Amino acid sequence: MPASTESGIYREAPFRLLNPQGRSPVLLVCEHASRYIPAELAQLGLDDAAAQEHIAWDIGAMALAEALAERLDAPLLAAGYSRLLIDLNRPLAAPDSIPGHSEVYPIPGNLGLSEANRRERQARLFEPFHRALAELIDQRQAAGRPTRLVGVHSFTPSYRGVSRPWIAGVLYGRAEGYARRIVDGLREGGGEIGANQPYDIDPAEDMTVPVHGDERGIDAVLLEIRNDGLREAAAIQAWAERLAPWL
Ligand SMILES: [Zn+2]
Repeated sequence: MPASTESGIYREAPFRLLNPQGRSPVLLVCEHASRYIPAELAQLGLDDAAAQEHIAWDIGAMALAEALAERLDAPLLAAGYSRLLIDLNRPLAAPDSIPGHSEVYPIPGNLGLSEANRRERQARLFEPFHRALAELIDQRQAAGRPTRLVGVHSFTPSYRGVSRPWIAGVLYGRAEGYARRIVDGLREGGGEIGANQPYDIDPAEDMTVPVHGDERGIDAVLLEIRNDGLREAAAIQAWAERLAPWL
């Protein structure tokens, strides 16, 4: 049984900041980097297979973000906990901020979550991450440094039995010019590249692009790479090499 109170169980850092002095205009964000869930929560009642699946994290996204950080010399802010505890890329008001279900899996440890535990996750995991991101952008602006915000995610080859043709997608709201440059650049390399596919950006459901990017007048995109292209180190490096010139 998952712990009845979550007070004190979030002892690990809510985020990692890699390469903070990186000189690129690009600021990388990986909200679904980790599948870490504190032991007290007993995997939220999920079996091992589900807890290690894409519902817990974005498979390969952190490895790709790290490869991009190195190639671009860019700072990278990455989540320290699983998205199943609280989704860092959803507004707190979104119904699946703390998901009760994900695709075919119910998430027992999130069903009937007490208000106190909900607030604990907001205060320990969500708020520090977004404070850190806002401060990073503030500091860059104060120093007169340009910023382009790039979220790094991965998606599954099929969803609810429907296979997805795109090998990657670029999701955007107001940063149409920046997104177009990336889409056009990636399309030169072949394979189907989605523009606001397989998802789009919706301020009711997305956090990083609308809040830290669009609302602040900063170019912001969310990259989605199909996760069957991120299963091996060489493939991850190849994606980093392909993406970097257009970011
Ligand atoms: Zn994601």
